[in-house]
Amino acid sequence: TEQTLVLIKPDGVQRGVIGDVISRIERKGLTLAALELRTVTTEIASEHYAEHAERPFFGSLLEFITSGQIVAAVVEGPRAIAAFRQLAGGTDPVEKAVPGTIRGDFGLETQFNLVHGSDSPESAAREIALWFPSLNS
Ligand code: ATP
Repeated sequence: TEQTLVLIKPDGVQRGVIGDVISRIERKGLTLAALELRTVTTEIASEHYAEHAERPFFGSLLEFITSGQIVAAVVEGPRAIAAFRQLAGGTDPVEKAVPGTIRGDFGLETQFNLVHGSDSPESAAREIALWFPSLNS
């Protein structure tokens, strides 16, 4: 079994799709090892997105991620990392994500793409330690 860090970003919370996203996770057969509604400090957000620090959209990405409540979750199951990325769809909700995925169904703009899911076992370990330091798996 594998764990992945899932975020429902502020746009997802504001749009009222927390239940829908969690329902998709559960219907897929994945389970929740941790689940929390919280607001994010700029410090955590910039550590989370450290790989994008030099990108032109970094400032506005941090502003967006810290703009409201988010849901942070640790999602678990066989191939959980790839399975959640399949549910999420591609980064660009129109050009990459297809209908039937979270981003394909609910998103219009790349920045406001509703959810995050870790992209590798290394990222998952790093992100779970960052968001849920008290969770030892
Ligand atoms: P995430 O890491 O959130 O799961 P991802 O792995 O699909 O998304 P990344 O390329 O890692 O995509 O980008 C991280 C996040 O930065 C995206 O989810 C999106 O919110 C934002 N982002 C990426 N590219 C752009 C862009 N060109 N313009 C604005 N925001 C962007």
